[in-house]
Amino acid sequence: MQECVFCRIARGEIPVQLLWDTPAVAAFRDANPQAPIHILIVPKKHIPSLDALQEEDGALVDELFKAARELARREGCAERGYRVVINTGADGGQTVPHLHLHLMAGREFGWPAG
Ligand code: 5GP
Ligand code: ZN
Repeated sequence: MQECVFCRIARGEIPVQLLWDTPAVAAFRDANPQAPIHILIVPKKHIPSLDALQEEDGALVDELFKAARELARREGCAERGYRVVINTGADGGQTVPHLHLHLMAGREFGWPAG
């Protein structure tokens, strides 16, 4: 079985530009962007989905959202606004089974999500 692609990116085995790189969290641009700014923010430890988060992951969750806030600021989209999405499970549209936040910006988004 092929190893988890986001684990491999987080370990530096697949060369991508890391926009956030701390012991617990990494962020990098989505390979198939759905907005002018589309960044993925992932825990470095393998957590399959939001549904698998544990109580003791509180500090990690804080950092994931801190990365979203700070990257939005760095990318210059904090003022106009941005969207943070966590697709979870099959009906949620999750295709990579490693928890990730989508930080998307640079255009207006519709609601409800498709
Ligand atoms: P999901 O559908 O699971 O919420 O989102 C997975 C996202 O990961 C998709 O937007 C897809 O384009 C992105 N993705 C999948 N494989 C790779 C990869 O190898 N590198 C990068 N940078 N993004 C990927
Ligand atoms: Zn993984």
